[in-house]
Amino acid sequence: MKIFFSKYYTVKTPGHVFRADKFRAVIDLLLREGVINKKDITAPAAPSAADLKLAHSQAWVRKNLEFRFTPKDSALAEIKITRAVALAHLMNAGGTLAAAGAALRDGAGVNCGGGSHHAFRGHGGGFCLLNDIAVAVKKLLKEKRVKRAMVIDLDAHQGNGTASILRGDRRVFTFSMHGSEIYPPEKEKSSLDIGLRPGTGDAAYLAALRSELHRAMDRFRPDFAVYVAGADIYRGDALGGLKLTMGGIKKRDAFVFGECRLRGIPVALTLSGGYAVKFSDTVRIHANTVKAAMSSFRNPRRPSAAPAA
Ligand SMILES: [Zn+2]
Repeated sequence: MKIFFSKYYTVKTPGHVFRADKFRAVIDLLLREGVINKKDITAPAAPSAADLKLAHSQAWVRKNLEFRFTPKDSALAEIKITRAVALAHLMNAGGTLAAAGAALRDGAGVNCGGGSHHAFRGHGGGFCLLNDIAVAVKKLLKEKRVKRAMVIDLDAHQGNGTASILRGDRRVFTFSMHGSEIYPPEKEKSSLDIGLRPGTGDAAYLAALRSELHRAMDRFRPDFAVYVAGADIYRGDALGGLKLTMGGIKKRDAFVFGECRLRGIPVALTLSGGYAVKFSDTVRIHANTVKAAMSSFRNPRRPSAAPAA
């Protein structure tokens, strides 16, 4: 299974709660533990303007490609948009596109980054500039490589940008399970939103996920999925407000990949948020998710051989 990562993902954001160096740290941990080796890692190409315009306005695409941001753009994204920051976001979108392509070939593809679900069609938001999820989904649909795509967004925050961009496209189902009391203050409407009370722990979280995702997949029958696997549902997270243990998050990941595998649905993994007070906890949780993807799809079923779920 391929894992996509670019050296351009790493950008210094001193003092900012979003540490872009976490993705490099995940790669290093996986290498150190022998889960992956260097030949598994592929650097993605930057997405084209045409790809980005599938999900974004022409004006926003131009700003991103020409690095012409205003102070208001930075304020909306809640991150100072330097050239390096913009390049990181661009390459992250390339990584998710590449992971989506790999998923169709191999059953699963991993972007060791991505999941910028707060980026809207014409502006950034919540540390996100380009919605890599929507770009990848729109591209596979346009190329008729998939017919029905599901976004499984289990980051602690609602996938508001994704919901906004993809709303009205009947070929896409956006599933978002998130804390109801945290950012974004005004939620968008996903195909299915499950708002969780602050302090929700393993048992209640997993029960809701198992019943709701199972049912949504039964009804929608996607032939492709993007998994937005935020680590910020962890009880040690500074922003998420939920109380899942690392073991609970492992069960979350096993369930998602298990459902996809059982139904023969190729899945592209994006890592998204994660702001644990202890940096190494965020890195460990993301690495666990990559491991779950790898073990679940070591012997993938070919999508065409899948039973009608
Ligand atoms: Zn988040």
